[in-house]
Amino acid sequence: MQAGPDNSLIAPLVERACATIRDHEAELTELDRAIGDGDHGVNMRRGFEAIAAQRAELQALDFWPAVQKAGTILVMRVGGASGPLYGSLLMAMGKAEGGLAERFAAGVAAVKSRGKSDIGAKTMLDVLVPVQQALAAGATPAALRAIAAEAAAATLPMRASKGRASFLGERSVGHVDPGARSAELLIAMACDLAENPMQAAPMEKSS
Ligand code: ADP
Ligand code: MG
Repeated sequence: MQAGPDNSLIAPLVERACATIRDHEAELTELDRAIGDGDHGVNMRRGFEAIAAQRAELQALDFWPAVQKAGTILVMRVGGASGPLYGSLLMAMGKAEGGLAERFAAGVAAVKSRGKSDIGAKTMLDVLVPVQQALAAGATPAALRAIAAEAAAATLPMRASKGRASFLGERSVGHVDPGARSAELLIAMACDLAENPMQAAPMEKSS
């Protein structure tokens, strides 16, 4: 068995993921208002706050079991489609074997299977799939961040064929997919942390 990342990374990851989502809650909601039901920001914030509320339990685990547990929290606590989808991603990454690239591939496969979807449907998978392919090919964090940003922006002209946005048909064209944007934000956050683990913000002591 390959040892996972040190579990001292759990605290900064949770903290930064929460901060990232909080900082962009309004933007994600706005994107979802255009082509969905306007709850993606709040769904994501609730989910990541639920993870943060269990920071002590998570920090007591090894890294990958903590990722798996964070996934179950998202599945249980988020009402929208994005909770079970991001939850499946994290659960499958936590359960898989191998290094980050293998685990991310397992996670993305789980999202495809849970969402009965794939690249091209104007969803988070339009970001997750190219990032997964680049990660498998050994891309640097800086390259992954750029790929995620480009892929999220590239959902703008797409027509949705999965999720709520698909109900709009042609009217889904001309807007960035909210889940693609949240995937971009979370990937950028993880890339920043991979580049600068030492600058991770300390975890709040309370709660
Ligand atoms: P809901 O659509 O239930 O309101 P959210 O608004 O939280 O849930 O999340 C919407 C996002 O979920 C979409 O922008 C899209 O990226 C993603 N999504 C929805 N359905 C699917 C699916 N079948 N496969 C992959 N991603 C999906
Ligand atoms: Mg929604």
